Amino acid sequence: MDKEIVLKQLQNIVGNEYASNREEELYIYSQDPGASKPRNVDFIVLPMTVDEVQQIIKYANKEKIPIIPMGGGLTLSGLIIPVKGGIVMDMKRMNKIIEINEPSRFALIEAGVSTGQLLSYLNNNYPQLQPPIPDAPPSATVAGNVLIHGSGYLSQKYGDHGSMINGLEVVLPNGDICKLGSCSVSNYWFSRGPIPDLIGLFTSSFGTLGVITKLSVKLYPKPNFRDVVFGLLNDPKDIPKLLLEITATGLAEDVLLGMQDKPEWMKGYIFVMTYVTGETQEVIEENTKIFKKVYKKGNARFMKPPDRMRTIYLEKPIFAAGAADYRKGGGFEYVGAFMPLEKVPEAYIKAAEISRKHNIPPTIGSRLMSGTHTIVVFFSYSFNRADPKDMENARSALHETNELALNLGGIPWKVELEGQKLVLDKMDNNYKKLLNLIRKTLDPNGIMNPGNWEVTEK
Ligand SMILES: Cc1cc2nc3c(=O)[nH]c(=O)nc-3n(C[C@H](O)[C@H](O)[C@H](O)COP(=O)(O)OP(=O)(O)OC[C@H]3O[C@@H](n4cnc5c(N)ncnc54)[C@H](O)[C@@H]3O)c2cc1C
Repeated sequence: MDKEIVLKQLQNIVGNEYASNREEELYIYSQDPGASKPRNVDFIVLPMTVDEVQQIIKYANKEKIPIIPMGGGLTLSGLIIPVKGGIVMDMKRMNKIIEINEPSRFALIEAGVSTGQLLSYLNNNYPQLQPPIPDAPPSATVAGNVLIHGSGYLSQKYGDHGSMINGLEVVLPNGDICKLGSCSVSNYWFSRGPIPDLIGLFTSSFGTLGVITKLSVKLYPKPNFRDVVFGLLNDPKDIPKLLLEITATGLAEDVLLGMQDKPEWMKGYIFVMTYVTGETQEVIEENTKIFKKVYKKGNARFMKPPDRMRTIYLEKPIFAAGAADYRKGGGFEYVGAFMPLEKVPEAYIKAAEISRKHNIPPTIGSRLMSGTHTIVVFFSYSFNRADPKDMENARSALHETNELALNLGGIPWKVELEGQKLVLDKMDNNYKKLLNLIRKTLDPNGIMNPGNWEVTEK
């Protein structure tokens, strides 16, 4: 490939300022904030229209150059760092909020709209509505989050963020534009069905099947009041019973768990945080009394958080990175696994052992998704970014955690390359064949984020 010719072509499509192969810019895109090793990037391109996305993809397909779609680049698991070089397509300039539909409660947005942008737009213009957003930094995109089955403060009540997609507009690897969901039949992006559901193909496929240019996500009514109560457990074995009690009330908007050795005052406890909502303060007080009883029944000590903590925990997003920098040097990687509830105690106990073995203070958390149907367990490993050995140590802890999750019957979430191999090793062979068939049919030249979910057929 003649790099100057490719650059010129990309610049012809998006303008000189928005395509680059300058070393200092490639350096930034060759890594993410997690523990992955940097990898080579050849070009960066920032399209502004669907037509530009189509032109870039058609050109890359003709020249067989890999394309890696990128939102905020914040998954921490290296998903937007090219495995085989190529063009990183940064979606940030496609940031229009196209429609907020109040009666059908959805937002139709471009793929570069950030979670912070959508949240503040709704707060200013539709304060009665709230979006599904994670506790990630506000520069994470809504698309990037829903596409990795993310989760956030509405997940206990309404499910993971992947299930909140009503519709997608995708540019396929051959450059065709395809609409999925009700928008393929109607002007309203209000529903995923009732037609064959192809949206799921694009979730957790890490940009290997096409570039999403527009999406519709569900919005939810915002109650007037929201509060958080804490329960303290001593033994991870008590987690399932307590969570079943909490969710049986039908009153919790969000349920978060945390077990960490630092700060010192958290050591020895599992914190179970339940978010209570209501139309009046009286309802909140009534519900709080109910949770006091529920916590007691589930062996947990009830606690109303002190004001300072309450303020932090009621923020959206919560400042989750507070648990990060124990090693100093700014590195922290947090991945996780979707787990069946009954295996959560073992996951906590064994993940804490993995952390201690690697000399990292255990920092484990979870979030419930729609009752106890799924629980995402996060394992966080801090490292010193300036110390390659310390980064290797975190990578090794992550690998062991992925093995643990799979052995317990869980599925690693937003999983990095090595973990993807572990998942594929365990996956049913015909599932893999189908995945491969779909991918080869849509992308015969293998240009879409190659190296990810790469199936070697037996
Ligand atoms: C401090 C911190 C806290 C976090 N807390 C949470 C949390 O509470 N809940 C949670 O779910 N996550 C959390 N995360 C993880 C992650 O940040 C979020 O899930 C985030 O929303 C991912 O969005 P992104 O825009 O950064 O996606 P990216 O990292 O840019 O992309 C994610 C994946 O989607 C693909 N992709 C992105 N855009 C497109 C597109 N337009 N077309 C096709 N494919 C695309 C990418 O190729 C990649 O494979 C947290 C991360 C950090 C750093």
